[in-house]
Amino acid sequence: MHTPLCGHASGEPQAYAQQALKVGLKEIGFSDHAPLVSHKDPTISMDYAQLPVYHQMIESVRAEFKDSLKVRVGIEADYIPGFEDKTKAIIDGYPYDYVYGSVHFIEKWGFDDPIQLKEWNIRDVNEVYRDYHKLLRQSALSGLFDILAHVDLVKKFDFHPTESMTEEINENARVFKNSGIVIEINTSGLRKPAKEIYPSLHDLKIYRTQGVPITFGSDAHKPHEVGCDFDKGRELALAAGYKEYVMFARRKIVHSVSL
Ligand code: ZN
Ligand code: FE
Repeated sequence: MHTPLCGHASGEPQAYAQQALKVGLKEIGFSDHAPLVSHKDPTISMDYAQLPVYHQMIESVRAEFKDSLKVRVGIEADYIPGFEDKTKAIIDGYPYDYVYGSVHFIEKWGFDDPIQLKEWNIRDVNEVYRDYHKLLRQSALSGLFDILAHVDLVKKFDFHPTESMTEEINENARVFKNSGIVIEINTSGLRKPAKEIYPSLHDLKIYRTQGVPITFGSDAHKPHEVGCDFDKGRELALAAGYKEYVMFARRKIVHSVSL
């Protein structure tokens, strides 16, 4: 879940917590976009100076809802090759319950940014997909993250490769398993042109075969999106053969829960 600090989410964290209670969740986690390490962009991430504000915000929600809801604090950090030290410094700066690694950039291109959508028309889609998956593997191997976010975000605008990516996913699955990283069932894809949960059933079956654990996220950028479509996420996980999902605290898996 996000907060207004990232510049493209709305609603106070308290409203997210209220919605969580309304949809029957007992535990939630905020994981707003960490300051970008490669360049500044206040429309997609918080600034370094906002990190203390972020933690104070979550702390106050936790205090306010302490009798009804467990509130975890995480962060979503972009994986940008060559900036690992700066990323690590951000992650190590506060005690997090979980850290998401995500790939939103292929070199300087924000391929999931609506403002940069035109770039898709001049790119080789097969190559974009292969570059994306390679970056996911590098993210896992960096050792910086606990969970990889939305592991087929590249499909967001509904551009699809003409060649099979199964070998890429097989390779991802091997690397994710060996790195001990968890992947996320992210229901926000249903709200995007792809109209499909991240990752697809095809990919999720491969991750399940290799034994890559899963967790759940709605990637809420507005209060009403909290826990959105978790029933569909659960169905997808079951269809892929998963029996359980994991939950984090202090950057360790603390529960495996039956689906
Ligand atoms: Zn976002
Ligand atoms: Fe993301």
